[in-house]
Amino acid sequence: MMEKTQINEWKEKLPLIGKMMAREEVLWLNPLLESTVTGLPKTGVTAADVKDASNRLKRFAPYIERVFPETKASNGIIESPITAIPNMKEALSNAYGITIPGELLLKEDNALPISGSIKARGGIYEILKHAETLAIEHGLITTEDDYAKFAEPEFGNLFAKHKIAVGSTGNLGLSIGIMSAKLGFNVTVHMSADAKQWKKDMLREKGVTVVEYADDYSKAVEEGRRQAEADPLCHFVDDENSLDLFLGYAVAGERVASQLEARGTTVNEDSPLFVYLPCGVGGGPGGVAFGLKLAFGDAVRCFFAEPTHSPCMMLGMMTGLHDEVSVSDFSLDNKTAADGLAVGTASGFVGKTMEPLLSGCYTIADDTMFNQLKLLADTEGIKLEPSALAGMTGPVQVIRGNVTEAKSAAATHLVWGTGGSMVPEAEMDLYYGMAGK
Ligand SMILES: *Cc1c(COP(=O)(O)O)cnc(C)c1O
Repeated sequence: MMEKTQINEWKEKLPLIGKMMAREEVLWLNPLLESTVTGLPKTGVTAADVKDASNRLKRFAPYIERVFPETKASNGIIESPITAIPNMKEALSNAYGITIPGELLLKEDNALPISGSIKARGGIYEILKHAETLAIEHGLITTEDDYAKFAEPEFGNLFAKHKIAVGSTGNLGLSIGIMSAKLGFNVTVHMSADAKQWKKDMLREKGVTVVEYADDYSKAVEEGRRQAEADPLCHFVDDENSLDLFLGYAVAGERVASQLEARGTTVNEDSPLFVYLPCGVGGGPGGVAFGLKLAFGDAVRCFFAEPTHSPCMMLGMMTGLHDEVSVSDFSLDNKTAADGLAVGTASGFVGKTMEPLLSGCYTIADDTMFNQLKLLADTEGIKLEPSALAGMTGPVQVIRGNVTEAKSAAATHLVWGTGGSMVPEAEMDLYYGMAGK
């Protein structure tokens, strides 16, 4: 907790903080947003870095296709569809008494193959990159070879001598665990006590070691990091500071650009693209937003969505304190049913990188997420996990917030549906039943 006088100073300087402390749903527009021409060079991450990640994923496509047959249709490229949701648009407009003149689209990362969430982008990429580095070091492969070879026993034998560790309450653990185990790594996922039982069961079934901690998530991460650092053969996936995770997510930008082009959606200064991304620690939404900025420049406007109880990125960016501020400093309890978003302190790396590029952040109450979950299931037959619905009120927020271009019929609103397909049916039924409660 901050001193009361300090809190009062912040409230005076940034009146929105008072509303956030009252857990109201709010919209914050980033005063530091600038043009991508000047903003991108400030970040230290380049288009070449993202291209390198994209090329690496292409090299691995023959391997992915071989070991995950569900990726056959996409030739081993892990990608999700963009789906128009006109019935949801109507329901959303009616529920809030507003008009959304532009088209409403859903990016269905819930349907991403292998691990059913946005983590199948960054998480899988980081493990593949690590595997490639080891295989090249040990003379098993060159970048000119057919990477389907990664399925051969000599690779598994090498990786079995190496360890991967990650701290996660959920989807990152699933993605890292499934990919690492498939390659043959000795992989450990450090989980907090509140992690869902089905996730622990699924990981153990796939040969992943799951270590449980009585404390919260940050304790699990800290302990995982400590154990990994003591072991030179162990690679720790650092959700808060990993450039590789970020780059894996960023590849989404060029993919969205070609998907929108293929469906005839125009994006330019007169037809802006608004994208709404659920944000936890920040790597997923940050990486994706970065990739979108590379692909579309100023024509894309990215917004992060956070629970009213856990607006860590919003607090970090608006105060400029980034990872030096926690939601508990402002008396918020970080309690939310959106488990992917229950984060008290955001990634400082992502917050600083996105400072000149992010249009804004907004918050959403858990009740609203559950209502949107039911609405989307009822109107479009698409079932997302609670976290993944945080993006759905984005169009409402920006239109109500008088972001002029958002009210244009030429604007496109893309809600990033970050996860859902791994959730067991019985669990999903419980979520569905939470609406209106
Ligand atoms: C992890 C996750 C997010 C947010 O990603 P971060 O990198 O933690 O910001 C959003 N939605 C779902 C479903 C997730 O699993």
